[in-house]
Amino acid sequence: MGRAFVYVIVGGGVAAGYAALEFTKRGVSPGELCIVSEEPVPPYERPALSKGYLLPEAPARLPSFHTCVGANEERLTSKWYNEHGIELVLGTRVKSADVRRKTLITATGETISYKFLIIATGARVLKLEEFGVNGSDAENVCYLRDLADANRLVNVMQSCVGGNAVVIGGGYIGMECAASLVINKINVTMVFPEAHCMARLFTPKIASYYEDYYKSKGVKFIKGTVLSSFDIDSNGKVVAVNLRDGSRLPTDMVVVGIGIRPNTNLFEGQLTLEKGGIKVNGKLQSSNSSIYAVGDVATFPLKLFGETRRLEHVDSARKSARHAVAAIMEPDKTGEFDYLPFFYSRVFSLSWQFYGDNTGEVIHFGDFSGGTFGAYWVNKNHLSGSFLEGGTKEEYEAIAKATRLKPAIEDLGELELQGLGFALAV
Ligand code: FAD
Ligand code: NDP
Repeated sequence: MGRAFVYVIVGGGVAAGYAALEFTKRGVSPGELCIVSEEPVPPYERPALSKGYLLPEAPARLPSFHTCVGANEERLTSKWYNEHGIELVLGTRVKSADVRRKTLITATGETISYKFLIIATGARVLKLEEFGVNGSDAENVCYLRDLADANRLVNVMQSCVGGNAVVIGGGYIGMECAASLVINKINVTMVFPEAHCMARLFTPKIASYYEDYYKSKGVKFIKGTVLSSFDIDSNGKVVAVNLRDGSRLPTDMVVVGIGIRPNTNLFEGQLTLEKGGIKVNGKLQSSNSSIYAVGDVATFPLKLFGETRRLEHVDSARKSARHAVAAIMEPDKTGEFDYLPFFYSRVFSLSWQFYGDNTGEVIHFGDFSGGTFGAYWVNKNHLSGSFLEGGTKEEYEAIAKATRLKPAIEDLGELELQGLGFALAV
């Protein structure tokens, strides 16, 4: 049993959705493109799962957040794929790939062959078991990566209103889920190993602002320790979390967000890997010229900073997907991917954006008592990164533009005095 396509995308997440739209814009013919996805629904905007999806009132539900609404483009439902002659093979895991034969084999035993393949398999969550703790399968322990996880989290949350939750991890999932739990009237304790939340991006001063805000909403923080075990009752429910520092936290539910690993396994030993991802060039092309990789799974050259990176954010998934399609369909007209890293989050009534690279010296500016504030990173006398909380659209555009231009910074004191005005004047 087998089918052949010109273009195949393995994985049906954010990057796949944006790639599909780009294919149609560039004139793919009906029957040429196939997407194979383990998920049972067409590509959707994953960021919604930790935000709108978890709201107690009028939560976001599909089809409202199928790609590509996040970029104010068309919303691609099953009907759209159908109308464009794009074959969507859903609920189907690809279990092996043969890059020499240019074939994929699915869990249902079908062979799908391609002329060009886009790898958009994203990432999987890291499980507690990988850190030597058992209990991930307890019925009130939640991870969050896909729609099935989000549905489970909603159900567990609804059964715990007025109760307690322990959130393990102080990164994106931890921070966004903690806020959603509070909004659902659940008492939250966050536990993470670092000295402050969002340690890979935030400075201690920025982190302290968000932690104080969370504390004002009732969230408790236990920092500098990790969990060592769960107490599980005879019904298979976690009733308490034991920490390595010896403390015990009785709880009704647990949310775990301790990072991810890219889904590279289908291609290990067949394609070159780097920094945990599939290594691609500036055209998003892997070590095999018929295969491209995009989104969370790709390690690509970041021209702006002269090094390769793997990013785990939606904007890079969207843009790398579009670029790969352009490189496949119009190779002569498509240059090197030139990406400015962009991360953001929204929690409670807060909202921040970050552009660039958080390396070098940091200059904070603005009103840390509840107004607009931010930070610049200055590396080798040039602006390398900018963070802003509570900005307007124009202000975010200004920090993005300034960061991309990497202006020379001679006087850090002057930069601090100018604050946001510096970016607005660049
Ligand atoms: P994914 O969207 O993860 O898609 C991968 C797809 O591949 C999935 O459908 C998966 O089932 C499928 N797949 C994997 N292996 C196989 C296989 N063998 N066979 C078939 N299918 C397979 N980023 C931001 O910048 N801002 C945010 O606010 C934000 N919020 C987020 C909230 C949540 C809850 C999560 C989990 C992530 C969030 N992110 C956010 C990160 C962002 O969603 C990811 O960077 C983005 O989804 C990456 O897109 P992708 O297509 O590479 O991978
Ligand atoms: P992150 O990498 O953001 O954070 C993981 C956190 O867990 C870090 O604080 C990490 O510490 C900590 N940690 C690691 N091991 C342990 C442990 N054994 N016990 C307790 N804490 C531990 O990953 P998330 O899981 O939060 O997010 C998953 C993915 O989803 C990421 O790709 C992220 O980009 C994406 N996402 C993005 C959002 C956004 O951009 N707004 C929103 C939601 C998700 P350390 O740093 O020391 O490893």
